[in-house]
Amino acid sequence: MRVPLIDLQAQYRPLRTEIMGAITRVCDEQRFILGPEVEALERELAAMLEVKHVIGVSSGTDALLVALMALGIGPGDEVVTTTFSFFATAGSIARVGARPVLVDIEPATFTLDPAAVERAVTPKTKAIMPVHLYGLSAEMDPIVQIAERAGAAIVEDAAQAIGARYKGRQVGGFGTLACFSFFPTKNLGAFGDAGLVTTHDEALGSRVRALRTHGGERRYYHQRIGGNFRIDALQAAVLRVKAPHLRGWTEARRANASTYRRLFAEQGLTSIVRLPVEPDGFSHIYHQFVVRVPRRDQLRAHLDRLGVTTEVYYPLPFHLQECFRALGHRTGDFPEAERAAAEVLALPIFAEVTEEQQRYVVDGIAEFYR
Ligand SMILES: *Cc1c(COP(=O)(O)O)cnc(C)c1O
Repeated sequence: MRVPLIDLQAQYRPLRTEIMGAITRVCDEQRFILGPEVEALERELAAMLEVKHVIGVSSGTDALLVALMALGIGPGDEVVTTTFSFFATAGSIARVGARPVLVDIEPATFTLDPAAVERAVTPKTKAIMPVHLYGLSAEMDPIVQIAERAGAAIVEDAAQAIGARYKGRQVGGFGTLACFSFFPTKNLGAFGDAGLVTTHDEALGSRVRALRTHGGERRYYHQRIGGNFRIDALQAAVLRVKAPHLRGWTEARRANASTYRRLFAEQGLTSIVRLPVEPDGFSHIYHQFVVRVPRRDQLRAHLDRLGVTTEVYYPLPFHLQECFRALGHRTGDFPEAERAAAEVLALPIFAEVTEEQQRYVVDGIAEFYR
């Protein structure tokens, strides 16, 4: 048996005709930049995400960048974020010239530790950037309180968490601004790069919209220096076909997570393999199903030999990355993130994975630890 980490073909096949229709519609119109498809997508996603202003952009990375630009964050400013995430989180902060102030994670949830955020805040803190890692919301109540007290903005990195909830509300609604990614392997994936910025603040929404096209509200007149951060009309058309299916895909991922829990329990593995948690009041969307295991790299090689693809998100925290050497960190600074980097393993959890495939994965893990 072969169990891929994700099978995009399986998702595409039943939608093929509809997606081809949408692509054909854009080609027949020959309107590739902004226009009606992008406007319709933004309207539809604003309703789905329960947020007022929604701006389609060129990628999740550019969403983070343009959000920080809209807040006017730059040299001399600090942004507090987790040391354990995809590179774009800290990269975007450094790219606007600000300092990423890194904090450790809570070991059970892998999201940034609010107590550590509190300690990291200084008068230079302009924003806090929580990451809803693997599809689980960060602990937002204390983070919102800390930000309010510090007079800092919140930029949510919701790239992995579209549709996740915290105390009944969807992620993306907590921050001053929030950023989503439609990278093809994200839970809602485009046919290439695309992303989204959301906000409840009208002025910030207009600023992001202007920055997306070189900082001009009127063509060739520029109030600010922006860039080309536009989402393609072709991507918008594809996303409009896929977005209505997201809820069903998320339910399937959640059901697959339950199946893993049952299978791991049946095999008596739950003392060796630590499963992801979903604390009370949180709704996990399982962008990834990440377990903690001893002898992780050997297990990974064993599964690979069995035809099971897994991945390590992420093997090296930001504070130990070569490009951030100037931040002055060393091994031991953030022990929970370092431990996680050595222990985490993502198992196949995509919507279409079968119970038979999941059983094969768990049996393979049981065989390794026997
Ligand atoms: C995917 C991702 C991004 C960047 O999104 P792209 O669309 O790939 O640029 C940012 N942050 C996190 C946490 C991500 O997982």
